[in-house]
Amino acid sequence: MTGTSALNRALREYFGLEQFRPLQAEIIAEVLAGRPAMAILPTGGGKSLCYQLPALMLPGVTLVISPLISLMKDQVDALVARGIRAVAINSQDTAAEGRAKLDALAGGEVKLAFVAPERLSNSAFLAACRRIAISLLAVDEAHCVSQWGHDFRPDYRLIKDFHGAVGAPPLLALTATARPDVRDDAMVQLGIGDARVFSASADRANLWIGLEACTTVAEKRAKIAHLARTSPGSVIIYAGSRKDCESLADLLAGELAEPVAYYHAGMSAGDRTAVQNRFMSGLCRVVVATNAFGMGIDKADIRAVIHACVPDSLEAYFQEIGRAGRDGLPSACTMVLVQGLDVKLREYLLGQEQVTGPALESVFRRAQAVAQAGGGLLPAEGNDDSLTLLVVSHLQSLGHIELLCRSSEGLEVTASRPIPAAALGEVRRRLTEHERNRQERFRRMRSFVYLGGQCRRQHLLRYFGETVPPQAEACCSTCHPRPLPSDLAAAAAAGASRKKKPPARSGANAQSATLGPQEQTALFERLREWRKRKAHEMGVPAYIVFGDKDLQSIAEAAPRTLDALAGCRGLGPVKLKQYGSEVLAEIAAAVPAPEPAAVRVSRAEMLARAGELFAGGLAPAEAAVRLERAESTVFEYFLDWLAADETGRWKQAVRLVISPEDYRAIRQGLRAHPEGPLSAVYAELGERYTYEQIRVARAVMAKA
Ligand SMILES: [Zn+2]
Repeated sequence: MTGTSALNRALREYFGLEQFRPLQAEIIAEVLAGRPAMAILPTGGGKSLCYQLPALMLPGVTLVISPLISLMKDQVDALVARGIRAVAINSQDTAAEGRAKLDALAGGEVKLAFVAPERLSNSAFLAACRRIAISLLAVDEAHCVSQWGHDFRPDYRLIKDFHGAVGAPPLLALTATARPDVRDDAMVQLGIGDARVFSASADRANLWIGLEACTTVAEKRAKIAHLARTSPGSVIIYAGSRKDCESLADLLAGELAEPVAYYHAGMSAGDRTAVQNRFMSGLCRVVVATNAFGMGIDKADIRAVIHACVPDSLEAYFQEIGRAGRDGLPSACTMVLVQGLDVKLREYLLGQEQVTGPALESVFRRAQAVAQAGGGLLPAEGNDDSLTLLVVSHLQSLGHIELLCRSSEGLEVTASRPIPAAALGEVRRRLTEHERNRQERFRRMRSFVYLGGQCRRQHLLRYFGETVPPQAEACCSTCHPRPLPSDLAAAAAAGASRKKKPPARSGANAQSATLGPQEQTALFERLREWRKRKAHEMGVPAYIVFGDKDLQSIAEAAPRTLDALAGCRGLGPVKLKQYGSEVLAEIAAAVPAPEPAAVRVSRAEMLARAGELFAGGLAPAEAAVRLERAESTVFEYFLDWLAADETGRWKQAVRLVISPEDYRAIRQGLRAHPEGPLSAVYAELGERYTYEQIRVARAVMAKA
């Protein structure tokens, strides 16, 4: 019905993208053909495009059911900024806002509407939906409909009926991580049991997955501090409780000599937003958080996710480590635990969360009283309405009550008849089952903590129903030692410079040579010869290897590295792996090497790169090797960076050149000759320290 070219055009026009990610085009084609689908795409795999693009191509409205109100808002803002008419409808709207949004929906002013699941049973919303043409119903976080999942939301059970009530448009279910049993159950619960399943591998090859077992809490804290200090880029540390968050952040701020933020659900919404913004903008590099942090955190350069606690399921763990390395560069995910103690601690916390009989009965009786009166406010118990919400959600999906609005005061509900006493038994049965599932998931998490000699990555992927061979590169703490901080720093530096440089295809680049027309033609002919040999060798037609236009693009760019080659036309990951090194060898043989790449890099850029390496824990000598520059040059960079750095990371870096004792001694010497030449200081100190050390000490004194 819709050709590939139309899809690609829409992709370019609205989203500024040239290519679909794996499976996106297939999923979209299925949806546009009017068939239901289940899409499992890893975080960062481009789930939202699978409904956003069809929404623009279909005649009616696309409804997106999403449980995360804050994410909903972000998505709407982003769409509106692209000129796409979108709105978010949820229980945080005031009555007037809600009415205005429904009017806009009914009036055909909206292409995409994001809806919180509890709205689905709202009669005004349902009436509005019946008046409009709904072209697609997208269900995000579809695993929430299954009680076998880690994030069961009873409200999601309303979707199936709602879907029928609005004329059963095509339904697209989406999730990032789901075990096969959860996925199958979700499909049944949504009424799309025989839909096609599109499942991308959940594996993220750039993540190293490790566990460091400690014997004491002091050792654990020292290890966490070390990891946070030596890791380049941003760092998230997950802690088990609000109290742990604050105390660990405090401790680290002292150890790292840089600001360390904390984040948990006990803080005000304003404080939480402030922390999130500081983290996203890079003002604060390290954040210690409970699992409340991270929904909607899409920061590309998170180089380390550290778990100082045991998550309550492998799903939660996988989601949390999935925030590392979104830019595809190597990143380390490390659990640092005193195993026995931390497992016990999480078991205890889970026990606290368990719903007891009296608490349930109390909430149930209050709900009954409010329903008896036809509706009203169910105040939150203490400052936590999670139990009330859980009970109300179950009562709603049983058809006894309707949730109108959730505010800081509590839940506003309405009911058309009293809630029968027998409903308590049903709610209790559901909660008990829920609890059993939760314990089973924790049992699986615990086995992961005590994994012994097995590959952690394989274990994790098997849990999600995948079999993946061990990775060649940094895999896990069982297969490979932890990546060196310097490797992560290099990754970060490469990432930073890649962002600043124009892509290879747009012209000259430090990783490419710029050739004259004759040289280009010669290289093109040489590549064609190579292609002919290769095709003959493989017994395939030449165009299977590369098309002429592909070779033309390569000849134009004359790339020197795989990275630069990847920017040429026709070079996907498969071909890059298959032919990349051979193509580079042909180029190297045909074209003399260009001047050293670094010559083209400005001093400012070199300084910026060096600064990132210093901040990442590399001494000037190590950075010099990495930057392919003379040690003396990089030492000058170090002094410049030291003088300019305002993040406080210089304090750590200085220790790589002089110890605190050295510093104190040299400071004595410098004070004895405040104006004098350095040679006088050098002599004064009995030639025990190098000129470099003296200059560093002098720079430190200037900062004080
Ligand atoms: Zn492994």
